[in-house]
Amino acid sequence: MRYSKQRELVMQQVESLQDHPTAEEIYQNARKECPGLSLGTVYRNLNNLVEAGRVRRVSIPGQPDRFDHTLAWHGHLYCTACGCVEDLALDPGVVRQLLAGKPGHITDCVVTWIGLCEACARRAAPSGAAAL
Ligand SMILES: [Zn+2]
Ligand SMILES: [Zn+2]
Repeated sequence: MRYSKQRELVMQQVESLQDHPTAEEIYQNARKECPGLSLGTVYRNLNNLVEAGRVRRVSIPGQPDRFDHTLAWHGHLYCTACGCVEDLALDPGVVRQLLAGKPGHITDCVVTWIGLCEACARRAAPSGAAAL
């Protein structure tokens, strides 16, 4: 498979997997369509796509990198119970306020909340116990 085709295949996987897939998940899915693909090739293509601004890298401390096709600036919630990563809409104006008057040249801001997603929080809440 030609290099540019591999890159488009990786791009398609990031789009179709939606939920911030890891390189490993992208590799497992892409391999079904292109059995000769290696994990190294997937990593290389993902790095290229990130550099080209077509994919965002989502770094969660202590976790493998995830990849996101939503390019508009947003934050993420990492659920420590089920391991999912959800989008959280953020008001860029609030972040700009926090930065007001800070020296230097700031180009990006990464916001990651750590906790429980809605489904896991409901499962953990005492009032939800009857649902189980
Ligand atoms: Zn969860
Ligand atoms: Zn996202």
